[in-house]
Amino acid sequence: MRYEAPRSLDQAVALLAGEHGEARVLAGGTDLLVQMRTDMVDPVLVVDIKGIAETRQIKEEAGGFRVGAAVTGAELKEHQKLKAAWPGVVEAANLIGSTQVQGRATMGGNLCNGSPAADSVPALIAAGAKASIVGPKGRRELAVEDVMLAPRKLALEKGEIVASFLLPARPAHTGDAYLRFIPRTEMDIAVVGCGICLTLDGKGVCTAARVSLGAVAARPLLVAEAAKVLIGTKIDDDALQKLDAAAQGACRPIDDKRGTKEYRVKVAGVLARRATQIALERARKA
Ligand SMILES: Cc1cc2nc3c(=O)[nH]c(=O)nc-3n(C[C@H](O)[C@H](O)[C@H](O)COP(=O)(O)OP(=O)(O)OC[C@H]3O[C@@H](n4cnc5c(N)ncnc54)[C@H](O)[C@@H]3O)c2cc1C
Repeated sequence: MRYEAPRSLDQAVALLAGEHGEARVLAGGTDLLVQMRTDMVDPVLVVDIKGIAETRQIKEEAGGFRVGAAVTGAELKEHQKLKAAWPGVVEAANLIGSTQVQGRATMGGNLCNGSPAADSVPALIAAGAKASIVGPKGRRELAVEDVMLAPRKLALEKGEIVASFLLPARPAHTGDAYLRFIPRTEMDIAVVGCGICLTLDGKGVCTAARVSLGAVAARPLLVAEAAKVLIGTKIDDDALQKLDAAAQGACRPIDDKRGTKEYRVKVAGVLARRATQIALERARKA
């Protein structure tokens, strides 16, 4: 196996695109190295992107934040302005693994590992984040919900790297939140994850909402029907009941050792309500 640590995106793309055998990006390695050790993957080339400036920076841009794909969860948590603007995203990234894992794990790796249960992905989707993708044909922006297509299958072409995420300017009275349910108190994979972002007007009426569910389908979902039932309401009990039903209706889960299909569907509705209540409190204070 060959290890390369380029200093620019162009060099990284050229290395990945020029390799005929299996080539992998290395960010924190908390998925990739485990998969290599257990022979799930056997790349001939590993391209470490942590030496590339854009992947490691958090910058204010267009009223929002550009967050490098290889910024770790621990680094996100240290960025007070980002944490204040998008607490749901930062909290989701910091649910990943343990303190040690958070010192390595990145949102780029979480997304590109291609797990439907990845914790930071529903939070990024709810926030309306865009992935900035660099490849042999140049740069393109893709909504985070369009990056993962199915388990381990991404909308990335050969040689493409997620360089960074753009978290948009957060409108006034907007709040986000992410909750997951796991069988243990930590270090487990989500049975269901739910990201919510909502905006209120001056009278407390919801004017915009995004709802995302993880671990209930082959890919993390943006659930437009669930957002629709919140918009135009003051997010009262009736709206929360409708949200619960809409979230449940969007689920197409599998049965596994963490939960049955029926259980996942039920939990999706409960988490959607609870995450909405947290986002609502945040939006009222924002
Ligand atoms: C003990 C433990 C606990 C964990 N707990 C959780 C958890 O609670 N929740 C959760 O969601 N995950 C969990 N994980 C999984 C893992 O930590 C996360 O998915 C993490 O975010 C992966 O990030 P990374 O930087 O380590 O990715 P890496 O391992 O470096 O990469 C993962 C995959 O993505 C590709 N990749 C990485 N970055 C890019 C990029 N910028 N562009 C294109 N491709 C890229 C790699 O080639 C590889 O295929 C856990 C893992 C361990 C070992």
